[in-house]
Amino acid sequence: MSADSALVLFSGGQDSTTCLAWALERFAHVETIGFDYGQGHRVELEVRPRVIAGLRSFEGWDSRLGEDHMVDLTVLGKLSQTALTQDVAIAMQANGLPNTFVPGRNILFMTFAAAVAYRCGIKHIVTGVCETDFSGYPDCRDDTMKALQVVLNLGMESRFVIHTPLMWIDKAQTWELAQSLGQEALIELIREETHTCYKGDRTHRHDWGWGCGTCPACELRASGFERFTAHSATPEPGP
Ligand code: ZN
Repeated sequence: MSADSALVLFSGGQDSTTCLAWALERFAHVETIGFDYGQGHRVELEVRPRVIAGLRSFEGWDSRLGEDHMVDLTVLGKLSQTALTQDVAIAMQANGLPNTFVPGRNILFMTFAAAVAYRCGIKHIVTGVCETDFSGYPDCRDDTMKALQVVLNLGMESRFVIHTPLMWIDKAQTWELAQSLGQEALIELIREETHTCYKGDRTHRHDWGWGCGTCPACELRASGFERFTAHSATPEPGP
């Protein structure tokens, strides 16, 4: 198992792209994994190769980027009755969770990621889950990830380390992290190529990127970008 290699769960969105840049700064060899789970916003699978190609232009990152693994989990979409996997409107459910929550999704993702990491001899697994200003998904919580690390290490007789660089930062700070990792060029790549919108909208372009602008994922991304640009704007010189 190589201590200097990482596998990044990479969906093609803002968060996982930032995590991929984070890993490329830290590990000598970085592979990526993505999942086709029958998501309605399939466009995120189409932007993945373009984002990876864009990251290759950053100094020192091209030689570190290894294989991209795509895993077919379409069975999950067939089992799940959610707004991401069926043609139903986004709404809040009686249990307090939005119907964009796909039960078991991150648990399965981490399990399959560990199976690939096991095969490839990779020690570090990186995921962009976050419980700071998230959508309330219980499988994004720090405790869920810590428990998964224990389960996966016990169940696979391994010493995987799960990294969650975004866990305790908000969406504005995620943009700041991207800027610190790849300056304006990375911010531009994220705005132009990554995909976050639940509705798969690539026809409306905003300051923060492409998307419908009204779904919960767009709202989170937009408000984070607004706070990021307000914070990073140069203050007016005094009189
Ligand atoms: Zn949207």
